[in-house]
Amino acid sequence: MQYYISHYNKESELKFPKDITIYDTTLRDGEQTPGVCFDIKEKLEIARKLDQFKINQIEAGFPIVSERERESVKLIANEGLNAKILALTRTKPKDIDAALDCDADGIITFIGTSDIHLDHKMHIGRQDAINLSEKAIDYAKDHGLFVAFSAEDATRTDLDFLKRIYSKAQECGADRVHIADTTGAISPQGIEYLVKELIKDIDIDIALHCHNDFGLAVVNSITGLLAGAKAISTTVNGIGERAGNASLEELIMALKILYGKDLGFKTKYIKELSDIVSKASGLEVPYNKPVVGNNIFRHESGIHVDAVIEEPLCYEPYIPELVGQKRQLVLGKHSGCRAVRAKLNECELEVSDDELIEIVKRVKKSREEGKYINDQVFREIVKSTKR
Ligand code: MN
Repeated sequence: MQYYISHYNKESELKFPKDITIYDTTLRDGEQTPGVCFDIKEKLEIARKLDQFKINQIEAGFPIVSERERESVKLIANEGLNAKILALTRTKPKDIDAALDCDADGIITFIGTSDIHLDHKMHIGRQDAINLSEKAIDYAKDHGLFVAFSAEDATRTDLDFLKRIYSKAQECGADRVHIADTTGAISPQGIEYLVKELIKDIDIDIALHCHNDFGLAVVNSITGLLAGAKAISTTVNGIGERAGNASLEELIMALKILYGKDLGFKTKYIKELSDIVSKASGLEVPYNKPVVGNNIFRHESGIHVDAVIEEPLCYEPYIPELVGQKRQLVLGKHSGCRAVRAKLNECELEVSDDELIEIVKRVKKSREEGKYINDQVFREIVKSTKR
């Protein structure tokens, strides 16, 4: 058995859309995390690993930002990856030209649509926003690009206006519209309502770009899919501005394990992907981060370790190998004889039963005195006990 979940999950009663697209934006929104700047080699390495993972689309960057950014998007676009390469643009022709120069397969072209963005950032009216979007989409479609139109701050945008601008995007031949929950300001119930409302009037695919300001980015994404959205934006390790974006690994594993919705991704590369992004971004993964954290498959308490040695699923919902992780048994003040015996076997050390009891005592004492029981410390304890 590779996983064991609650039988109260009624996945058969839930309806997901048939084709779900994941477009990962680690290289764009992820890089917008304050202090993060990937170099070209790192960007390419992340893109290659995402492609190995079988990601559908990669939002590779924002070409208008800099010469370097254009170079890296171009490099990724010409790498021969299976994933479609998207570039971010404003609704400006020069941004779209920059994306074209990079040989991107498509663009995500965005404009702020909420009144707060129109009034305080764009300083334009609603009709102006519609006109700019129309021109941008027409221009990009004329150049043969896949076009996703994104309403920035969509979740704080007037519904009638949102419907109007998305309908215009559809009319201009956009391939998809994006709901950007730019400030992570919507609840699962809110996103369900919004997606269902939009589907009444919009006939093209709807995507969600969720931020994690209230820790709800993944659940909002899943709720949105169940309401009929067809594409989800993610980042590896959930990096991104403020509290970050919907985490790729959390979303994919929840869909696959909890909801029985396997999208065909090579999940065994998840840990590697996480390590690469953590190193390149300089952002350490918290120990308790779901799926990829260092503690997710680590056990110390004697009661847990005893059970895990016999049957890991006693204290794990799925086995670590599914995501390229390894189970670790940690010795400490909560360790019992079975854990220590398992560690002795791992280190190929033989002791008598009396020695074992003494080793357990010393392990507990050492840890309580402040020593971390790594393999070297453990070997010293065994050696001193045998003397
Ligand atoms: Mn964002």
